[in-house]
Amino acid sequence: LAKLRARLAKSNSSLGRGLLSLLSRDTLDESTWEEIEDTLIMADLGVDPATELVDRLRERVRVLGTRDPQTVRDLLREELIAVVDPTMDRSLQVERADSDPAVVLVVGVNGAGKTTTVGKIARVLVAEDRSVLLGAADTFRAAAAEQLATWGERVGVETVRGLEGADPASVAYTAVERGMQEGTDVVLIDTAGRLQNKKGLMDELGKVKRVAARPLSPEHDSLDEVLLVLDATTGQNGMQQAKVFSEAVNITGIVLTKLDGTAKGGIVVAVQRALGVPVKLIGLGEGADDLAPFDAAGFVDALLA
Ligand code: GDP
Repeated sequence: LAKLRARLAKSNSSLGRGLLSLLSRDTLDESTWEEIEDTLIMADLGVDPATELVDRLRERVRVLGTRDPQTVRDLLREELIAVVDPTMDRSLQVERADSDPAVVLVVGVNGAGKTTTVGKIARVLVAEDRSVLLGAADTFRAAAAEQLATWGERVGVETVRGLEGADPASVAYTAVERGMQEGTDVVLIDTAGRLQNKKGLMDELGKVKRVAARPLSPEHDSLDEVLLVLDATTGQNGMQQAKVFSEAVNITGIVLTKLDGTAKGGIVVAVQRALGVPVKLIGLGEGADDLAPFDAAGFVDALLA
């Protein structure tokens, strides 16, 4: 985890350094506060959260009548943690029910990091001694199923695949059905993400979600997690896509990938606000172990490191 934190801190160091150098100026005047606000907006925090945060921070600094950089830094840390929201439940719902596996559907545009994320999650679950089955419900591109199966081999779990062009929902159904039969703990389903035909894709995902739940017992009436994988480097563009997905399927959590390659960590706040669901996991590299649970305080500390 220290390694991951270092990686996150490295990519965000310009943001942290920028903020800290602004805060340690002799005078905290109007233009300094504006620069702090701009720095937060540049980091993709979003205009409203950035403005609100700076207003609150200013007011607290004013009430305390302090210029002490360490005190102001501590207050900034507190305000950043508050805006990231430490109260959200970020635990991954992967506990199997009596006769049912937990079922996790992973959605997002092509290239966001879905398949990689499925592989990384499988790796974590296997390390926790859980049995895992992968479902390759991107039947549009043969290469996609191939890539998922390769991840499966790497982490030592089976992959259920359909023929190229098969109905993605039927592959998802088969994966869950097999998970039921085999007493699997968690079934992870990877999906297609081509956005050229938005309506078609959204209809498809809705159907995959419905059909994947069919083999489950009646009391287990919906999937355990629907994770939206979002590339942190796509900023506000990615936000538009995120909304489209959240309208098509009820998202339960966000996985923010490629945070190792951007200083725009503020996107965490923007996307949580836009979708009303927590960031649960973050991707910090291409390797199998480059996935970390998200936690507000740890994230802010890495940002300000
Ligand atoms: P998909 O089309 O959504 O399934 O995306 P892939 O899983 O194929 O990932 C697309 C590319 O992003 C691949 O080259 C991955 O190695 C890379 N990638 C995925 N997650 C991360 C991450 O957290 N950090 C970095 N740097 N690259 C990532």
